[in-house]
Amino acid sequence: MGHEVVVVGSVNADLVVSVDRRPAPGETVLGSDLATYPGGKGANQAVAAARLGGRVGILARIGDDGHGELLRSALEEAGVDLAHLLVSGGPSGVALITVGPDGDNSIIVSPGANARLEPGDVPAEALAGAAVVSFQLEIPLPTVEAAARAAAEGGARVVLNLSPAAAVPDEVLALCDPLVVNEHEAAFLLGHDGAPGVPEAMARDLLDRGPRSVVITLGAQGALVADSSGVHEVPSPKVEAVDTTGAGDAFTAALCLRLARGDALADAARFAARVGAAAVRKPGAQSSYPSVGEDLPAL
Ligand code: ADP
Repeated sequence: MGHEVVVVGSVNADLVVSVDRRPAPGETVLGSDLATYPGGKGANQAVAAARLGGRVGILARIGDDGHGELLRSALEEAGVDLAHLLVSGGPSGVALITVGPDGDNSIIVSPGANARLEPGDVPAEALAGAAVVSFQLEIPLPTVEAAARAAAEGGARVVLNLSPAAAVPDEVLALCDPLVVNEHEAAFLLGHDGAPGVPEAMARDLLDRGPRSVVITLGAQGALVADSSGVHEVPSPKVEAVDTTGAGDAFTAALCLRLARGDALADAARFAARVGAAAVRKPGAQSSYPSVGEDLPAL
């Protein structure tokens, strides 16, 4: 049987140090012990969907270093199909994260092997038979473009999470069903200067840009779903937020899985909001994702 979800995306090692304050240029400060976690938006989404019981594959590149080993085993443990996890010489992708005293993150991403995932690395058979193929923007845009086109031609539903925000060609937007963005990414795509607009209006304006459907995630407020039937609100369960890292990835993964299983978009988004809320109850990204059978917060 084919995959329910194939994720074409990034795999990063998250290297996290807590600091009292960040160093000024030329200065050195001491931080906490280093913590190393498996991350990257692509890997997070693949792990989240597999934990929920999905048949999930990943198409990605890691380096031939120690981080690559860690990243591979995290995907393997979650049950993700690694037949198309490629290895290149050189470093894996890394996110260098400092956490300040208020829990605020500063992040530098060194793409490493992710930057070497090329259009030619996406064989049609890797996407064939997938119900949904999911993309984010931590890999080169030409690879996203080529793979999204191949996925659509193969009959898969294309989901694009426009994160981190970047301009994508209208032909790619037209393939998205849905385009998934948070408020900031929506504002970026619409060319708003900094401040996001009214979410309902942004959802309509984004739909006018060509995607078949749009989902705007709104943190604790849940999400908005927009398609030709109109704009619908999806509430989020009330939970005590401990750490929102990777919540958007958990949401998108759950959305993709339910779409692959035939849910209507609004129903899939209602389930995804519960999975996103579950992910903010625990620290970390992949470490916070619920497993199949685990109680999800109720709406
Ligand atoms: P991103 O992390 O991409 O900015 P959001 O912050 O919008 O995305 O979160 C994605 C989804 O996770 C939301 O739509 C919601 O379902 C859930 N979520 C995020 N933060 C909270 C919260 N504080 N309480 C409940 N659910 C949340």
